[in-house]
Amino acid sequence: GQSLRRLESKSACPYCGTGCGVIIEHDGQHITGVRGDPDHPANFGQLCSKGSNLHLTSRGDDRAREPLQHQRGSESWSPLRWPEALMQMAKVWAEIIHTQGPQAVAFYVSGQLSTEDYYVANKLAKGFIGTNHIDTNSRLCMASAVTGYKSSLGMDSVPCSYEDFDSADCLFIVGANVAYAHPILFRRIEAAKLRRPELQIIVVDPRRTPTAAIADIFLPIQPGTDVALFHGMLHILIWEGFLNRAFIETHTEGWEELKARVQNYTPQWVAETCAIPVADLRAAAIAFGQAPAALSLWCQGLNQSSHGTDKNVALINLHLATGQIGRPGAGPFSLTGQPNAMGGRETGGMPALLPGHREVANPEHRAEIAALWGVESLHPQPGYTAVPLFQALERGEIETVWITCTNPVLSMPDQTQVQRALEKARLVVLQDSFLGTETAAYADLLLPAASWGEREALVTNSERRITHLRTAVPAPGSALPDWMIFRDFAFILGDALDTLNHPLPSAKDASWAVRAQRMFNFADSTSIFLEYRECTRGRDLDITGLDFSVLDNQGPQQWPYPEGAVTGQARLYADGVFPTPSGRARFRDPEYLGVAEEIDARYPLRLTTGRLRDHWHSMSRTGKVAALFASDEEAFLEIHPDDARRLNIDNEMLAKVSSRRGNNILRVRVNADLQPGLLFTPMHFGRRYAPAALCNQLTLAAIDPISGEPEFKHTAVRVEPV
Ligand code: SF4
Repeated sequence: GQSLRRLESKSACPYCGTGCGVIIEHDGQHITGVRGDPDHPANFGQLCSKGSNLHLTSRGDDRAREPLQHQRGSESWSPLRWPEALMQMAKVWAEIIHTQGPQAVAFYVSGQLSTEDYYVANKLAKGFIGTNHIDTNSRLCMASAVTGYKSSLGMDSVPCSYEDFDSADCLFIVGANVAYAHPILFRRIEAAKLRRPELQIIVVDPRRTPTAAIADIFLPIQPGTDVALFHGMLHILIWEGFLNRAFIETHTEGWEELKARVQNYTPQWVAETCAIPVADLRAAAIAFGQAPAALSLWCQGLNQSSHGTDKNVALINLHLATGQIGRPGAGPFSLTGQPNAMGGRETGGMPALLPGHREVANPEHRAEIAALWGVESLHPQPGYTAVPLFQALERGEIETVWITCTNPVLSMPDQTQVQRALEKARLVVLQDSFLGTETAAYADLLLPAASWGEREALVTNSERRITHLRTAVPAPGSALPDWMIFRDFAFILGDALDTLNHPLPSAKDASWAVRAQRMFNFADSTSIFLEYRECTRGRDLDITGLDFSVLDNQGPQQWPYPEGAVTGQARLYADGVFPTPSGRARFRDPEYLGVAEEIDARYPLRLTTGRLRDHWHSMSRTGKVAALFASDEEAFLEIHPDDARRLNIDNEMLAKVSSRRGNNILRVRVNADLQPGLLFTPMHFGRRYAPAALCNQLTLAAIDPISGEPEFKHTAVRVEPV
């Protein structure tokens, strides 16, 4: 008789940056169930609605099983074998590299990739091909937190831990709907509040979100006014004598300039600018200032802004001025949106970065990585971030793009620009685990990638904790782990460059093929990890003491974990020494600037976008689970009752919302939890679910000048009944 095997493999949830540990139940061939891992310190066995339905998302007709060639503009997809597919691609890429130079090819990858994938993709782009045009969808998510941390603290390192939730006396939650976007972290916050009702929770959000429901103080600020709010709070902290002068004196620089800056941010002016009562502003500042330990949590509300870096540094100022950092329960804690956005940052998965938190623009950093990779030199100029990358593609400056594990046609701002860019491209390669995404319509070649549960991987969550994900079942068809596709492509590209007699940078290697074999000699995840680990030696994220056996025996670990360590590190900067040239943290003093597209007579309303509780990104997975549709079946437009009345729009009616770039038809939900003049629509629904409701047809491509992150959180629109 047939024996029913019941097997279990440890993994982590592939959705949000909480990074919950999961145990995959399977029979060696199929995933049959999933439950929370009781030993994982991110979730202690709990899972949210998305995570607990994961087992229903991994198979189905929409899985990519074999390489496919696509006739653009048609539904015709024909199967190819791997060597043929990679050869076709390599021929075009080699020709472009040979005739136009390596800057004419680009990669657009994803915070869903594993650390190993990110490392190999970067080595391929920056080390082998010589282009820094490799950006990631994390650009749309936490890029402003990266630039904020670096600007203020010297390094892109989250200094806090989830355990700080349990010891904080004040939680300052800004622009983060934790209840929906990080549900398990929200449960931890709720539990802390139950245990210690004196815990002060301040929530800042233009919408009264479910997160705001547990706030002691709720500040529904006008979208985009965060810098004014933080400067106003600092003004009050100075006035009320809540500064930690010893900390400012010993551990910071730039205080006098900031103090002069915030002088004009009087409570009255700030309250008017933010459209909040002055008494609430004062109460929030005093709650923060009085708390023995204050912890800030933020997410896209600060980051997705044309002044996202300014918002991050202005918030960090509050912690530095009060010495609220490096102690239990205190610090500025950016919540990561995606499961491995942090791993991407670590391995240099952005156009200005190199592995080990190094910078492309820094000659010493380039020399160190060039030596580790055994290449002569690295291109000194940072590549394009996402929005300029797709603009360069439209201009023809970049001729081909390899999109991996992301759906830019749905998720990038000003969607029609991205569509034009992809139509213009000579070759669009899409590597994904799922068929039929909005981006697939523009692809010439689809490469099937193994997915969650089908491959070994490392990921780092929001609190710097590295989890080892094990393989449970085989990938469908001939789908491969992403890193393996990058590796195999390097081999075939090497041959194609040799065929064209493309000049080698030096006589070090006999040919491009030999060079590829030398650089991508990766047999498995371990060999990639060991090479990447070496890139972290002596850096702030040093993990030279970690290996797979430590992770398997002791469980997921936080970095740094240098050689000789016996445990990871829960908190950074406890000694008050910061990784800046002077060893001091830097106060920054940005002026408050408004939103990129102000409202006017033609577009008099403000639209903001965001996540729902039960869906994830463009719904490749969550769109397959009936139970997850139960709470929200379709895209919708939330509008304040006063605006609805004025515009003659009723609940459940369809309305047309238009911006300077496009329009959507959406079902209306009248909702008094918004401020008058503000609208909300979810980000998830694509053409498959709501053909006339693609929210990023409305949004604009304005980006933060430092972080390159787009302003998804504010678009000027008008609404009319249909
Ligand atoms: Fe997954 Fe995030 Fe839910 Fe945890 S909180 S189960 S990581 S979606």
